[in-house]
Amino acid sequence: MIICDTHCDTLYLRALQPGETPCVTMDAMKRGGMSLQTCTLFAGSKGMSDHPYEKAMAEYACLEQLEKCEGWQKVDSPLEAEEGRVKILLSIEGGEIFEGSVERVREFHARGVRMAALTWNNENEIAHPAKGGSREGIKPQGWKLLHEMARLRMAADTSHLNERGFWELIDRHEQPPMASHSCAAKLRPHFRNLTDDQIRAMASRGGWIGVNFYPWFLSDNGRAGIADIVNHIDHICQLGAAKYVGFGSDFDGIEVKPVDCSGPADVPAILDALRARGYGEEAVADIAGRNFLDYYRRLGY
Ligand SMILES: [Zn+2]
Repeated sequence: MIICDTHCDTLYLRALQPGETPCVTMDAMKRGGMSLQTCTLFAGSKGMSDHPYEKAMAEYACLEQLEKCEGWQKVDSPLEAEEGRVKILLSIEGGEIFEGSVERVREFHARGVRMAALTWNNENEIAHPAKGGSREGIKPQGWKLLHEMARLRMAADTSHLNERGFWELIDRHEQPPMASHSCAAKLRPHFRNLTDDQIRAMASRGGWIGVNFYPWFLSDNGRAGIADIVNHIDHICQLGAAKYVGFGSDFDGIEVKPVDCSGPADVPAILDALRARGYGEEAVADIAGRNFLDYYRRLGY
């Protein structure tokens, strides 16, 4: 079975938070049967003023080192995912890394970036974050970058984006947007989670949602386990998005983890929990990875 995950902060942790121990290792990914792990280049928590491009380049250099020394393998197309091999897809978290420049979008596409979250929690040249409750839309320069992203088939990731920006992308973007690491707001009201209307819109537009494993996005008291991850996936499926959902763990970016899911090696236990919840093998394979690859097929891969 092909298993995909659409968000981890492992490169940031390794490159810029020395002393922390990553849970996303080649060994853990192999033990979990991971086929395609998306690793993000994170802009950092301070936004435009704090050298996001330089941070991204340090994280990229870290990936090159992992390729050289530890057998990591970055792919140009998500469709290179295969069972029994671990491959890496590169993404961006925080559009300030592009510094408002279309050329930078091309530069990172050439480096293999196939997905970009327009914002993290800070406003940038493209758009406004969900955090802070801004009602502003995508900026004119943001649309220029988005147009180039669509031309290059770089997915527009709405995780962290404010709601107005989300709806503008649903209505106007040339390609279906996605949410790489967000949960269902109906089960856990939080600005980082998606409302039922947003989930339905993502499905009808042909987008995609990766359920985040962060306990504070899964439950009100910040304690969560695999059962809660399955609750969010199940809720999204009930809304008609069973073909548009999967995993967006956020491993190595979350300081608390689900009690029974501490790294990629535990992902098969989520698949077993889905089976126990009544999901058949086809539905489990969809959620594990096929839905995500189908999303990229809709982008033209
Ligand atoms: Zn994030």
